[in-house]
Amino acid sequence: MKVAVLGAKGRMGAEAVAAINSATDLTLSAALDLGDSLDQLVSTGTEVIVDFTTPDSVMKNLEFAINNDIHVVVGTTGFDDKKLEQLKSLLSNHPKVGALIAPNFGLGAVLMMQFSQTAAKYFESAEIVEMHHANKVDAPSGTAIRTAQMITDARKQSKKSAMPDATKSELPGARGGKVGDVPVHSIRSHGYVAHQEVIFGDAGETLTIRHDSINRAGFMPGVLIGVRNVAKHPGLTVGLENYMGGM
Ligand code: NAP
Repeated sequence: MKVAVLGAKGRMGAEAVAAINSATDLTLSAALDLGDSLDQLVSTGTEVIVDFTTPDSVMKNLEFAINNDIHVVVGTTGFDDKKLEQLKSLLSNHPKVGALIAPNFGLGAVLMMQFSQTAAKYFESAEIVEMHHANKVDAPSGTAIRTAQMITDARKQSKKSAMPDATKSELPGARGGKVGDVPVHSIRSHGYVAHQEVIFGDAGETLTIRHDSINRAGFMPGVLIGVRNVAKHPGLTVGLENYMGGM
């Protein structure tokens, strides 16, 4: 399979180039960065692109790829409802093309979210503590937001009542930021890469589910699952977990 990487000189893109080069079933057809012509995707016969660029650049890249019937595997963040609608509309004219938007390619991170969704049904309390390097510009992390949404949905489905919390006075922020039902606490410090703990509590016991990203290479097994499976999933898929059932 011929695979091109967009954002190839970036931190994630460079890892993706290395991962594709070391996979015997994949051929790196192009490694493009800012300023390179997208026409190379067509002239090299690229079948799948991996995009690790920027939220401002990504839609133009995806539009070009989809209009040329090239499947897309996207790690670039910042996909709001508006962008997802735009993508759906592009894909509707190319029904055989697959598009995977993966907010987190870490297999452990995906499993952490799934385990949390399962646990949410059984515990009264749930809180998230996420820890990232001090250069991260957004808080909470996209993964923490997604986890909190999944926990909130699971609580709604199992008709859980409000979490117990007797706090009457608080320093602003001391109880974290709420995403759905779930307080999320963000720590930014040198020494961290990307880490998250989901803490569940009920009378007499707690359960902590923790995931640690050690380096960017840890995302690559997930990227390769995306690349190898995207053609089998025409249309839009959000979340790598949707490709992991058949593994
Ligand atoms: P980065 O180091 O800044 O890399 C982005 C690269 O894309 C840069 O080399 C940039 O060039 C290039 N670029 C910008 N516009 C482009 C375009 N139109 N065509 C081709 N290349 C273009 O960032 P990063 O840390 O690798 O992260 C990239 C994205 O992945 C971010 O959105 C980040 O949040 C996301 N991410 C996702 C996951 C996941 O698991 N889904 C994990 C980590 C990061 P210039 O430097 O010249 O602008």
